[in-house]
Amino acid sequence: MQAEAASPEGRGAHLVVIGAGIVGACTALAAIDRGMRVTILDPGPPGGEQAASYGNGCWLSFMSVLPPAMPGLWKQVPGFLRDPLGPLAIRWSYFPRVVPWLWAYLRSGWTEAQVLKTARALKSLLSDGPALHKDLAERAGVPELIRRDGLMYVYPSREEYEKEAMGWRIRKAVGLSWKEIGPEEMRQLQPDLDRRYGFGALFEEAGHCTDPGAYVAALVEQAVTEGAELRRVAATGFRIEGGRLKGVLTGEGEVPADRAVIAAGARSKALAAAAGTRVPLETERGYHAVVLGAETGPRIPIMPSDGKMAITPTRAGLRVSGQVEIAGIEAAPNWKRSEILRDHLLRSFPGLPRDLPAERVKFWMGHRPSMPDGLPCIGLSAATPDVVLAFGHGHVGLVSGPRSGQAAAALAAGTSPGIDLESYEPRRFT
Ligand SMILES: Cc1cc2nc3c(=O)[nH]c(=O)nc-3n(C[C@H](O)[C@H](O)[C@H](O)COP(=O)(O)OP(=O)(O)OC[C@H]3O[C@@H](n4cnc5c(N)ncnc54)[C@H](O)[C@@H]3O)c2cc1C
Repeated sequence: MQAEAASPEGRGAHLVVIGAGIVGACTALAAIDRGMRVTILDPGPPGGEQAASYGNGCWLSFMSVLPPAMPGLWKQVPGFLRDPLGPLAIRWSYFPRVVPWLWAYLRSGWTEAQVLKTARALKSLLSDGPALHKDLAERAGVPELIRRDGLMYVYPSREEYEKEAMGWRIRKAVGLSWKEIGPEEMRQLQPDLDRRYGFGALFEEAGHCTDPGAYVAALVEQAVTEGAELRRVAATGFRIEGGRLKGVLTGEGEVPADRAVIAAGARSKALAAAAGTRVPLETERGYHAVVLGAETGPRIPIMPSDGKMAITPTRAGLRVSGQVEIAGIEAAPNWKRSEILRDHLLRSFPGLPRDLPAERVKFWMGHRPSMPDGLPCIGLSAATPDVVLAFGHGHVGLVSGPRSGQAAAALAAGTSPGIDLESYEPRRFT
């Protein structure tokens, strides 16, 4: 089958979206809106357990503008190596391979000015995330999966909150505002939360998704209803001739294509290289534990400062997610990390039973697709303007998925992405 001729704006062009996580799903829908013919490739089920989009913290947190690397983090690197179960850990065996990424990661957050620059760049991707998700969920017939009840960071005391003054200063500098919650109001808002948390920062306009896996599946199903084709196959490369894309290569032959978007999450690196662009993409492995049918929990999702983990009510139960483990894509999960999350959850909500049977707790590990500077890659490949890179969303891929998808679809169509993409330039490290 020959790909149809495309108009300059991409209308009628055949776009192959590689990856059916949140970024791929949003890209597919945005491309349909532009009149493109869309094929989605993924060897796994859309929103399935293989995807980071399945198991994340569910937070639609437009305020997550701080990159993971902050000034002074370098002092903690020995600890990351020493404590294999700390909130951020690097496996010794993987350390030599990750040194260049780690160095770029630390350098990107060396000064407050650098962090502020990153925060400004992230804000444009994140700020309307909750509203865009609400629209997408309605379009896909699953409005109940997106809630806008707010999100809250909780601390033992105001003093603990003030220890993170730089982060709050930067959030303020990029125009974010929040409500400070004292001990009394905390008791009203979170009556079941352990009494040791007496202070909070509440973002009332933020939201969460109650089942990210099902949500992504619904978005992809909606794309199919609106004309997209879904194929359960992995992309392996591209046929590019004379600087133009001719087809996407797969284990089952070539899919003719005018344009392609690489949205394969943590597995995008080799595909980007196949399109001529080398990127320092790593996986920050993360974990979750879900207490099925939890007896109690937060009224709105919280992140306790002492655990740096998101505690979120979901359809299946109470999900606690977090941890960063640098150990590559292939290493087996270390379920002790999910146990740490579970135990922190039990400490945070004393009303949960201490003796939870194993069948009531579900563990998961997945791969945050992470660039060293905490910013994704959204831009054209080096080999051809027909291949767009849209991956590397690290800790904020769920909330930033819709805006990223719109930008990727616009680039694929050859039109303006609507936001300044300079900070996301895939070749910024070369
Ligand atoms: C523990 C944890 C907590 C998190 N919490 C939050 C949060 O609260 N809020 C937030 O905004 N973000 C959060 N994130 C980050 C967020 O989940 C990710 O950034 C986001 O899901 C990345 O989406 P993606 O579509 O790029 O990748 P993925 O969701 O990983 O999807 C990539 C897809 O590509 C497919 N694929 C891989 N290789 C190929 C190939 N060769 N061909 C075709 N398809 C392929 C995969 O099968 C997969 O389905 C969290 C992540 C983790 C791990």
